[in-house]
Amino acid sequence: MTDAPASRPTLASPYQSWLAGDPEIASLLAAEAERQTTTLQLIASENFTSPAVMAATGSLLTNKYAEGYPGRRYYGGNQVIDEVEDLARDRAKSLFGAEHANVQPHAGAMANLAVYQALVKPGETILAMRLDQGGHLTHGSPASITSKVWRFVSYGLTPASDDPDRPGEIIDFDQVADLAKAERPKLIVAGATAYSRQIPSEPFREIADSVGALFLFDLAHPAGLVAGGAHPSPVPVADVVTFTTHKTLRGPRGGAILCRADLAKAIDSAVFPGLQGGPLEHVVAAKAVAFAEAARPDFRDYATQVVANARALAGALAGEGFRLVSNGTENHLMLLDLRPFDAELTGKEAQEVLDRAGITLNRNTIPDDPRSPFVTSGLRLGTAAQTTAGMGEEEMGRVAGLIGRALRQRGDDDALAAVRAEVGELCGAFPPYPTLAPGAGPAGTDRS
Ligand code: PLP
Repeated sequence: MTDAPASRPTLASPYQSWLAGDPEIASLLAAEAERQTTTLQLIASENFTSPAVMAATGSLLTNKYAEGYPGRRYYGGNQVIDEVEDLARDRAKSLFGAEHANVQPHAGAMANLAVYQALVKPGETILAMRLDQGGHLTHGSPASITSKVWRFVSYGLTPASDDPDRPGEIIDFDQVADLAKAERPKLIVAGATAYSRQIPSEPFREIADSVGALFLFDLAHPAGLVAGGAHPSPVPVADVVTFTTHKTLRGPRGGAILCRADLAKAIDSAVFPGLQGGPLEHVVAAKAVAFAEAARPDFRDYATQVVANARALAGALAGEGFRLVSNGTENHLMLLDLRPFDAELTGKEAQEVLDRAGITLNRNTIPDDPRSPFVTSGLRLGTAAQTTAGMGEEEMGRVAGLIGRALRQRGDDDALAAVRAEVGELCGAFPPYPTLAPGAGPAGTDRS
């Protein structure tokens, strides 16, 4: 830890003092810093980035226009920017063992759109996972532009099963194979937004090869688990891999694409000029920081602990009377079916009650959910963020107990306040930024 300088950066923003002229935003940032550090962050797609990632994201690289790619820009003054982007690309390639990386997608959705645009003509068929069974909006939701440009066909999960040795609600590869044969898709997509099992690449590869389709693995959620060696990598198997940098990978908000060298030109042109304008080079720099952090040995420990914590949390929640979709978890997230706990309790109400108790997560449909996507019968929880804050399996047991208590006593304001107080105490013992304080803590450049 460095000595604190006279003007100390705060948790709300390393450059908080520069916001003195905008007290409204400054106070909102301070309030959000308070929320993030005094309540439990269990949204499966969130994490706590390092101060170094935040510093790069908040840097003056935001001033630079840099349409194009290193060595081929449309504006001048690119020497530094080119080095930044080259570093980010090289680090991404080395981290994942990829032949080519594009680090410009502003988000995971942009990365997926770029891949579709590069590889599939409008109107051609894409086979992807059904949204109500765990797929993402960009996998062909009627609400998404993806379904208006391309023709999507969807696969789903096997039926639920009580047999612990043969869990149900896992990807139905017979269905994937049958649909591929019948529909002859141009592209097959693996990957999900709410699926608690490892997704193997090989069966998708075999099916894609059997019908001459290309294979995209959307690694948005488990990218950090792959980088940290806790999950097998789809990079050597898939033609293209997209991912988000802000979930388990713990970087800035953004997307990236990895692909074989022979697809590089098509992918790059689809991102720019096909889909986006100027890249966000401050975010590209922050991605480079995150890739370097994810290559460190301690990130391997982190990824392993995220999975161990998820398993512990899932086991403890089952003990509280919830049903786990697919009987458990192999990654950083889990889906709870609330109905065995309380048939009347919806995902919407549970999310609102837990918010009041200082436990932040999201409602989610469960497979074959009888309720609407706005109401739902399920909750989705993840361990990536609180593992960054240092929590382990023991704390996961406490978290499950607090969730059970809050939901059982949801009509009792005093009981909810008591849970909220315990949540605050627990979070206080595991500050995500020990060297940065919510108000005006000491300066820190590291998490240690
Ligand atoms: N793909 C999957 C599987 C996701 O889970 C997500 C985000 O949740 C995305 C793509 C899109 O990422 P973004 O929100 O950055 O656009």
